[in-house]
Amino acid sequence: MRKVDVLVVGGGASGLQAAITTKSTYPEKEVVLVRKEQQVLIPCGIPYIFGTLNGTDQDILSDKLLTSVGVEIVIDEIVDIKVDEHACHTKEGEVFIYGKLILALGSIPTRPKWLKGAELDNVFTIPKNKVYLDAMIKKISSTKRIVVIGAGFIGVEVSDELNKKDFEVTLVEIEKTILSKAFDEEFGKIAEEHLRERGVNLVVGEGVAEISGKDGKVAGIILSSGKKIPADAVVLSMGYVPNTEVAAKAQIELNEFGFIRTCEYMRVLPCSNDIVAVGDCAEKRDFVTRKLDRTMLASTACAEARTAGMNLYTLSPCKPFTGTIAIYSTAIGDHAFGTAGITEARAIQEDFAIISGSFTGMDTHPGNLSHSHKQTVKLIVAADCGMILGGEVYGGFSTGELTNAIGFLIQNRVTVKALLTMQIGTQPLLTGSPAGYPLIKAAEVIVKKMRL
Ligand SMILES: Cc1cc2nc3c(=O)[nH]c(=O)nc-3n(C[C@H](O)[C@H](O)[C@H](O)COP(=O)(O)OP(=O)(O)OC[C@H]3O[C@@H](n4cnc5c(N)ncnc54)[C@H](O)[C@@H]3O)c2cc1C
Repeated sequence: MRKVDVLVVGGGASGLQAAITTKSTYPEKEVVLVRKEQQVLIPCGIPYIFGTLNGTDQDILSDKLLTSVGVEIVIDEIVDIKVDEHACHTKEGEVFIYGKLILALGSIPTRPKWLKGAELDNVFTIPKNKVYLDAMIKKISSTKRIVVIGAGFIGVEVSDELNKKDFEVTLVEIEKTILSKAFDEEFGKIAEEHLRERGVNLVVGEGVAEISGKDGKVAGIILSSGKKIPADAVVLSMGYVPNTEVAAKAQIELNEFGFIRTCEYMRVLPCSNDIVAVGDCAEKRDFVTRKLDRTMLASTACAEARTAGMNLYTLSPCKPFTGTIAIYSTAIGDHAFGTAGITEARAIQEDFAIISGSFTGMDTHPGNLSHSHKQTVKLIVAADCGMILGGEVYGGFSTGELTNAIGFLIQNRVTVKALLTMQIGTQPLLTGSPAGYPLIKAAEVIVKKMRL
């Protein structure tokens, strides 16, 4: 039996960040992090192990990030949590008695039960698991035709990377456009064009009915129209679910989607001062709609983890987590797509009265440099008060940081009118021109519509 001040369960993005923040906020506390795997992958780098990177060895999260600040790492698995006794039992037979417990249990990919053939050999998911992914890379190396099911950003990135390695890749998406949860149609269509240009086959607006097999192995997929696409391997990119079994067993409350219920300080509900949950296993509430949400991102996970770590012993009303603004970006070759907050389609579906506006300029000035790229910014704002609710960007490599800036505008409830007087720094090689800055120009388009 071992007594520790703070026990972190999970070594992914949220466990790592929660341990580091806790240790830096409360340096006198002993912080121990327990995780299952010897080596942790940088999750967002996983798609790139199939093409750009040379396998998983180039995508390892360094333990030094933890050990250099005094966090101890234990490789083991928590199999039982006794909340009343403040105790966690491990697979190896250790018992940790914790002062504070941080649950950072993460998520696992779904393999839908309704999908006939999902159990066949050569049907893969993308878990954050080095051993599984090493075996997968080995197995697919003797295949040629791969179907990826699901065109969220993971499916898109994995398809593009497999395509780089000369597999014949077909990406299948049931929705009208790819990336449809995060981008409005016009952005999804541009992403489709770029993927096609690069050689990925796309089936959009049609679902997979079943995976067909021969001798226990994948032979192809059958679309809902009956059309058959031959394949040697299938990658399921159909979503992730919170990994909360051990929490449920301990009677820690889960919400209707299986996430651990938390308050805005990430403390477990109802009313635990000593257990927090962060990252993919923790309850999410959409910043704009205020509804429960299932978006799982490393960036959100780390923001929650910082909130939990800072508030672990003493609550600060300045530091709650006020909801998930799904902010992320992705790249298809030299073309990038970024999104923050709500899309126009979702805003309308949710009954928000909104005005949207877009502007396309260039991301350098002049716009004829070798690395210049078109930059389109779309903003979605509340029609009554002008509050910015969402933004989408298409452009070059500055897209990610511009999207992050839009996310912060949303988080701080900035209105579109404030953008008209926004002071910006511009530089010919790095940004659009001060007179044609797409973010401000998009705001001008909207303000004009508001006056009509
Ligand atoms: C292919 C891919 C690409 C992605 N790309 C991006 C991206 O570009 N940007 C972005 O923001 N997000 C991205 N994500 C999402 C991001 O990876 C997750 O949101 C993030 O990993 C969540 O971190 P986490 O720590 O909550 O969970 P996880 O990363 O799932 O980590 C959970 C940890 O808990 C451990 N654990 C679980 N149960 C136990 C137990 N009982 N005992 C001990 N240890 C346990 C696991 O071993 C693991 O170490 C991507 C995800 C995938 C799969």
